[in-house]
Parts: sequence; C-alpha cells; structure tokens
Amino acid sequence: MNANLFDILHNAIPDFGALAIETVGGGRLLYGDLVERSGRMANALVALGVAPGDRVAAQVEKSPEVIVLYLATVRAGAVFLPLNTAYTSAEMDYFVADAQPAVLVCDPVRVDGLSDAAGRAGTRIVTLDAAGQGSLTDLAAGAPADFATVPREAEDLAALLYTSGTTGRSKGAMLTHGNLVSNAAALREAWHYGASDVLIHALPIFHTHGLFVASNVTLFSGASMILLPRFDPDCILALMDRATVLMGVPTFYTRLLGDDRLDRNRAARMRLFISGSAPLLADTHRAWQALTGHAILERYGMTETNMNASNPYHGDRIAGTVGLPLPGVRIAVTDPDSGRELPRGEIGMIEVRGPNVFKGYWRMPDKTAAELRANGFFITGDLGRFDDRGYLHIVGRAKDLVITGGYNVYPKEIEDAIDALPGVAESAVIGLPHPDLGEAVTAVVVPDAPDAASESAVLAALDGRLARFKQPRRVLPVDELPRNTMGKVQKNLLRERFADLYL
Ligand code: ATP
Ligand code: MG
Repeated sequence: MNANLFDILHNAIPDFGALAIETVGGGRLLYGDLVERSGRMANALVALGVAPGDRVAAQVEKSPEVIVLYLATVRAGAVFLPLNTAYTSAEMDYFVADAQPAVLVCDPVRVDGLSDAAGRAGTRIVTLDAAGQGSLTDLAAGAPADFATVPREAEDLAALLYTSGTTGRSKGAMLTHGNLVSNAAALREAWHYGASDVLIHALPIFHTHGLFVASNVTLFSGASMILLPRFDPDCILALMDRATVLMGVPTFYTRLLGDDRLDRNRAARMRLFISGSAPLLADTHRAWQALTGHAILERYGMTETNMNASNPYHGDRIAGTVGLPLPGVRIAVTDPDSGRELPRGEIGMIEVRGPNVFKGYWRMPDKTAAELRANGFFITGDLGRFDDRGYLHIVGRAKDLVITGGYNVYPKEIEDAIDALPGVAESAVIGLPHPDLGEAVTAVVVPDAPDAASESAVLAALDGRLARFKQPRRVLPVDELPRNTMGKVQKNLLRERFADLYL
C-alpha cells in the first residue's frame, strides 16, 4: 500500500465538490481544486529538478498556494521545509546551507538577499508572493494536472520542520508520512472533527501548529478553513458567526478577552476553542469560560512529535493542565538522571513514544542519539507531572529549571503564585547567576497598571505562601514579556538582559 500522506488524504476526501480553503479576500478552493492544483504544482517541481527525498524550502507569506505547495511537495515524494517569514537573509543562510534544498520558494522581494546562499547550496529559487503569484505559479499553470503520486513508505520523510529556537539554535526535525497521518487521525478523533467544521485559521503556516495541527486535521476531516494572513481580532470576531473552531496561541485568547465585542452571544455558534504552543494561564481559561461559556481546550505538542496530549472533548477541561495522552501516544514522566519512570504525582522529564514521534534531527546524529532513546521514547526537555486523574501538568522546560543553593525551583509554581496576586498581569521566573546561591530566583513581572504590584508588595505577599528558598530575591517590573511569533516567552532574552543583577 502507498503510505504517501497525499494518497491517504485523497482516499479520505468525502466530497471533491466541497469547500476546502477560503480566504478573507473571497478566494475559494474546493477539494477537487486542491487535487488538480497540487498535481500541476507537483509537475512543476519535478520540472525544476525535484526528485523524491529532495527538500523543497518555502519562505513565503500565507496563502492557499502554500498549502497547495505543501501537498504538491509531498505528492512528488519530496520533503516540505517551511521557514519563518521573519528570518532575515543572514538567518536563512544557515537553513539553506543546513538543509540543502533542491528548490527554495520565496517572495520576489527576497530573491536578491537569498541568491548567494542558494547558489552555494545548489538550490534553485522560484517565487511566490502573498497573493499567490510568482514564477512558481506560472510554471504550475502551464503544467498538466495529472500526476501519479510517488509511492512512499510510512517511514519516509514528508517534512523537515525547524523548531522555534526558544532554547537555542533551531533544529531540523525529520517528520515522516506516518508521523503526520497518525497525528491527524488522532486529533480528528480526539476533537470530534468532521466535514461540517469550519476553522478560523489565523496561525502562521511555517510552524507545526498552523501547518500540521490546523491544516492536516481540517483536510483529513473533509472540513474547511478560512485563512487569515495573521491574527486579526476584527476578522476573528466577525467569523465566529459562521465558523466552528478556532485554534490559537494563548496570546490570541488574552487579546480577544480584552475586546469589548466578545461575549456569550458572539461565541454562541462556535463549537471549540483550542490553545497550544505555550502555556495558557489558568486565569485566561477561567475568564474565557466566564465570558463566553466555552472551556478552552488546551493541548500539548512540539515540532518533534506533533501533538501528544489534549484536554478531553467530553469531560473536564482543566485549567492549567494539558490533559490526557492522545490515542496511541504514551507519555512517561521520568527521573532526568536515571531515566527511570517516576510514580504518579512526582515532577520529572516528560518523555513521549508513539507513531507521532519524529525520526531524528536532520544531520545531528549526536543530538538525535542523546534525545531519542533506543526504545522509542523522545526526551522532550519539558518537565511535568501527572495528577490523580491522569492529567498532565507542565511545570516548565528543563533548561528553565532554577537551581538555587542546591534546591530545584520550578518556575511555573512561582509564576502561578505571582500571577494570582492583585495588580499582576503576568510574570516570568528565571534563574540568574548569583555568587552564593549559584542561581537566584528572580521574578520579572508585568503589572496591571504602572504603580500596581511593587517589588515590596509582591515579596510581602509571597512570604509565608512559598518556602523561603522558592521566594524571588528580586522582583523586576517590565512593560511586557519578550515573546516570539508563536507567543512563547523568550526567557533567554530575560536572562541576558538581567545577567549582571547579582554580580
Ligand atoms: P526549541 O526546541 O528550538 O528551543 P521550541 O521548543 O519552543 O523551540 P516548538 O517545537 O515550536 O519549539 O515548541 C514546543 C514547546 O512548546 C514544547 O516543548 C513546550 O515547551 C511548549 N508548549 C507547547 N504547548 C504547550 C502547552 N500547552 N503548555 C506549555 N508549553 C507548551
Ligand atoms: Mg523544543
């Protein structure tokens, strides 16, 4: 049997006349159009010299053509490699040199900045702009629609996706056809996704959240999605009248909560609000439920594994947790030193095994060997614990763990305590170099108003609530926390900014 993701998708399409993708500008692509256009595009890629196993890199603005390009690449047996549109030409040099794509698709305005790197890697450049036009579109328009999908095994690569680079240099995660298909099926089941669903798609499509979670689940359900170029509250609120699902990063929800137009009525037609990519504050979960009547469904995943855990569709969606392991996915919490599985309730390293787990890091055999165990478990780098009901709680990344005077301090516990104080909007707890303690617990706090939540008030409030070794040495007010495109707090920037505080 052909395990090519495209063939499996094709066989699952219930109605080729059904709508697959809409744009806010009025564009409409039916499932039949997706098949036809991906066939033309696959022929164009082959004409450009793309062979099975080759990488097709794309640094392009979001448009339906990008989804067509993704499907076409996979149909041709090649490996789709989307790249963040924010990367500068200098940053792109690294990705092009590392991945050595056969073809790089970019916006026409970026060709000059990328041509040197492409030349060195033997990569051909073609263009695609935000409106879906460019030399690639022209080539595809002149190519035949019939294309025999290249047979692939489940183990063959479908995508090379770089991690967000939150904790260091981005790593290329090798994802197989089997990884993507199995996760789309698991999420479709877990979230009761069906052909009548209409997704508000406001996420970028160079990241696992917008590309695989959002687009694959929608396509594998025969549902449709409305592509927004970016997060746009006016548009999202208006679309709630005719959509059923919103997928977002936590900042989507905090920003929408700040909009007077959001109320129970506005959200009444929606079926499901999903959050992921960064921790959703328990406060945001509660405020959203109180205002709209919907409990946001939080899930947990990463580039290397797609999705691992999700709060239940039926049953309690518990604020501050990422829910239960998805069907087919096994999650273990282990002792970071010995790798031994810990009893329920204890905090340890989150490890994941299942058909969703990637094949390894691209051209990083040592890193792959260090993080992917022979028994199939991937060591995620996230710390967490299971509660009595089997819900997974994430307490932070191992790299963000603070070790102060020999004691482990988990930032999330301190952040939760600070966030619950009056006058605090949000916080980030980091460890900073300290001559006596090794690291000192330090809280960076965003107050609700300029004079709210002073350092002395926060410290006084935490005294008696937290053991002394967990209490921050200093509380530093900031206007906002540094976040990347996926809404992740960049603690490394905070650690750099305040590096000398105690020295
Ligand atoms: P890098 O690996 O390059 O440092 P990254 O880990 O941020 O970057 P991604 O793969 O985009 O790159 O993000 C996955 C990480 O996001 C997870 O390991 C986890 O730390 C975090 N994450 C995802 N969903 C959630 C969630 N619901 N709650 C808390 N953290 C989450
Ligand atoms: Mg990571």
